[in-house]
Amino acid sequence: MKKYLIANWKCNLTKSELLTYFKAFETLKTDITLSFAIPTIFLMKAKELTSLPILAQDMEAFKYGSHTGRTSYEHLLDNHIDGVILGHSEQRVFNDNTNEIINEKVKVALNQHLKVYLCCGESLDVYEQGDTKAFIKNQLDIALKDVDLTQYKDQLVIAYEPIWAIGTGKIPTNEIIDEIAQYIKDTYHVDVLYGGSVNENNIKTLKTIKSINGFLIGSASINPQTFLEIICNYN
Ligand code: PEP
Repeated sequence: MKKYLIANWKCNLTKSELLTYFKAFETLKTDITLSFAIPTIFLMKAKELTSLPILAQDMEAFKYGSHTGRTSYEHLLDNHIDGVILGHSEQRVFNDNTNEIINEKVKVALNQHLKVYLCCGESLDVYEQGDTKAFIKNQLDIALKDVDLTQYKDQLVIAYEPIWAIGTGKIPTNEIIDEIAQYIKDTYHVDVLYGGSVNENNIKTLKTIKSINGFLIGSASINPQTFLEIICNYN
């Protein structure tokens, strides 16, 4: 079974920290697929510093246009960026990424041979009402509308990230994560990650969840030594 660890730096780190970050990974040997989703302004520089896969944290589905402040798929391709996180809950909330907009982005990114890490996840309200499966099925059915899942099986990964677990230190039980991840796998037949408050300690028990192919890690990936410890504990 393929194993992934995806670092999501969010809006963190400086240019000098970027330089030292990838030095820490230079001699690392691992079978785990590692990728780093980093701020747009660092994408080009990171490609010079490391051969590890570099991801954008979002992208636009159009090539060029009058869209001040945006980064298009063409910019990612032009700079040999390996893939993109789409549908992260922070993009959904702060940048109005609806399921329909995410669907456009997913189709373009896949068509352009970018690796796609598609996020889904419910609010605490939805979780407490026991509606998680229906909620994420609706998110994913729309985000994956007209996507040939057989064709893109190896290019698309789904990350289950309960919103209430992101950056809060709260995590669903292993049983619940397993149930939701297996449900996603049975429905969409792609690899599934879990994201939400994963760190160097709890990875030791989270890695025992059978249906999970890996983890998307936010805050605990910002410090390279902590992320290396996570890699070590996941091995
Ligand atoms: C995330 O931003 O996708 C995430 C999982 O964050 P954290 O690990 O900080 O909860």
